[in-house]
Amino acid sequence: MKTKYVCTFLSKRMMSSVSPSATQVQQPLNYVRGHRVDPSNTDKNQRFSLISPATGEVIREIQSSGGNDIDQAVDVSRKAFKSWSQISAFERGKVLRKAAEIIRGRSEELARTEVLDTGKPIWEARYDIQGCADTIEYYGGLAVNHNGDFMKLDSGCFAYTVREPIGVVGGIGAWNYPFQMASWKSSPALACGNTMVFKPSPLTPLTAVMLAEIYKEAGLPDGCFNVIQGETITGQVLSSHSGIDKMTFTGSVPTGSKIMEACAKDIKHVTLELGGKSPLIIFSDCQIDNAVKGAMLANFSNQGQVCSNGTRVFVERKIVDVFLEKLKARTKAMVIGNPNDENTTVGASINQQQAEKVLSYIKGAKQEGANIVYGGERIIPQDASLKNGYYLSPCILSDCRDDMTVVKEEVFGAVMSVLTFDTEEEAVKRANNSEFGLAGGVFTRDLTRAHRVASNMEVGSLYINNYNVYPVGVPFGGYKKSGLGRENGADTLDYYSQIKSVYVEMNDVDCPY
Ligand code: NAD
Repeated sequence: MKTKYVCTFLSKRMMSSVSPSATQVQQPLNYVRGHRVDPSNTDKNQRFSLISPATGEVIREIQSSGGNDIDQAVDVSRKAFKSWSQISAFERGKVLRKAAEIIRGRSEELARTEVLDTGKPIWEARYDIQGCADTIEYYGGLAVNHNGDFMKLDSGCFAYTVREPIGVVGGIGAWNYPFQMASWKSSPALACGNTMVFKPSPLTPLTAVMLAEIYKEAGLPDGCFNVIQGETITGQVLSSHSGIDKMTFTGSVPTGSKIMEACAKDIKHVTLELGGKSPLIIFSDCQIDNAVKGAMLANFSNQGQVCSNGTRVFVERKIVDVFLEKLKARTKAMVIGNPNDENTTVGASINQQQAEKVLSYIKGAKQEGANIVYGGERIIPQDASLKNGYYLSPCILSDCRDDMTVVKEEVFGAVMSVLTFDTEEEAVKRANNSEFGLAGGVFTRDLTRAHRVASNMEVGSLYINNYNVYPVGVPFGGYKKSGLGRENGADTLDYYSQIKSVYVEMNDVDCPY
């Protein structure tokens, strides 16, 4: 495991897990006007179960927020916007930097809660939380520098531009990185002076509310960051609400498309972080052990449930045998089991439905002619308490072709398709033959080739000799159907603000009438 993936900030008081009866799990999960509240909606058909992926245990029932709850959250955000947008950027930044400090102090509790929600291994959850603290601190620092320009014009006239907040931002997140999505969206939005109503995925509702409490403790005025829980209908009502000025969404392409449609009605701003089917090209001159590790990072982190995963692994034909041999040996050594154990490297799939979807892609691949080099099976851990969780062994497929379903569609599970190629031109052409364009990677020791390939790939993020690293400050987002807008970088602030241009006349008005 690389040092950068090992948590370096463990809290003084380590815990082994968060109990389903813990306060942050059982309290109300909506957060409006600075408090946890139950939704006013009582429709019994709009309830869902929170299930622990690790154990399959039903932890609690959650009531979805209805129209009135959303109206209220939007209204509260609108009122809070009036004052938050007028506070100096320096003061807003201070609140964010304080929130980052609180997150670091509560990192173990946050990481353990994230494990309960997602089933991901604890070391990954710690890494995510650390990254979120960094992101929030980063935007806290940038807030004061996000200003406009000054332009000197003819005859003493001049113009200046001001970066102004957009208003009330609606955020909707997916389930694979719940705390990260809430942080990546809220911190740049708040830094710019916007307020937010955030809806986490119904599969992972817990940590966004904890973030709301942390913001409050850091000094964020009530009403600036609100959380509502719910499923599809709640998301639909939020994204089509006339009181929302911008939507920021992370999830699948079909849902992203619907949200964009909903935003079109009121010409709302929109940021979309969507799916991918990213290519990783491995040339024969690479450092092969690094390439194998890179391919694993590109496919097997977070049970393969990562949007930017490089799931189409193109390996130059002359090294494919040795590549597969080394890859199989390392993959076999991965430890599947209790996500709260320190040694676990493969945790639970998010739920049965997702696990079955992954297994059906593997079955289909086999029928279409792929060879299963390793894995792709449901594993029942020895620990009896985990028997109802869905644990899959990471899967390596060889003999893949570009026309196979598993090679064309996003699986969102730990399934690596290995394809072979002979020339650089061929590899790049095939890599670009996708409706997605989120990320890509190349392993080679030829510097010129690395940059040439980077320049020719149609993707938003390109890794040379590594994969799936997200240092704070490096923009992240997709080309093609993988999305619109960027997160995690300084540019992101542009997507949470709008430019006002002010022209200043210094002379008499020159008018032909
Ligand atoms: P999803 O699209 O099913 O759901 C995402 C969110 O949208 C959930 O909160 C859901 O309740 C809500 N939703 C569903 N239908 C809606 C509608 N019609 N209107 C409004 N909201 C609606 O996605 P998912 O299964 O939660 O997440 C997996 C997907 O997310 C994958 O495609 C993955 O690639 C993508 N993803 C992308 C990124 C990125 O940054 N590009 C990051 C993580 C995940």
